[in-house]
Amino acid sequence: MTMVRQTRQRSAVIEVLQTSRDHPDAAQVHTQVREKLPSVSLGTVYRTLDALVRDGVVMTIERTGQATRYDYKRAGEHHHHAVCRACGAIFDVPAAALPQPPAAALPAGFQVTDVHLEFMGVCAGCAEKNRA
Ligand SMILES: [Zn+2]
Ligand SMILES: [Zn+2]
Repeated sequence: MTMVRQTRQRSAVIEVLQTSRDHPDAAQVHTQVREKLPSVSLGTVYRTLDALVRDGVVMTIERTGQATRYDYKRAGEHHHHAVCRACGAIFDVPAAALPQPPAAALPAGFQVTDVHLEFMGVCAGCAEKNRA
């Protein structure tokens, strides 16, 4: 695999994640990347996503028994997630709307580099269905 191809795959994956706001899993990213680069394999998409996560460009939302979902880290737009246990929908929660975690609760001398909260629950649509 040449460097050029790797770079094109990387930009294609980044572009998919930048334009999608529904936190796709690797298979969904693969489907969209193939519209631009038809020969890209799912394995390549996994490896590219792993590299982007390692580089801090992309974050993951992981749930036991579910495919890992991916989200592009938009500059100046830090957000947390609210996850529906029923349908798996993932909603963005702007970090600016939440209080900062109290430093007193952290181990002495601990330096925070990243904060990520996940709110688990049931979305409005699923709550409505449960009532019906
Ligand atoms: Zn739901
Ligand atoms: Zn998100």
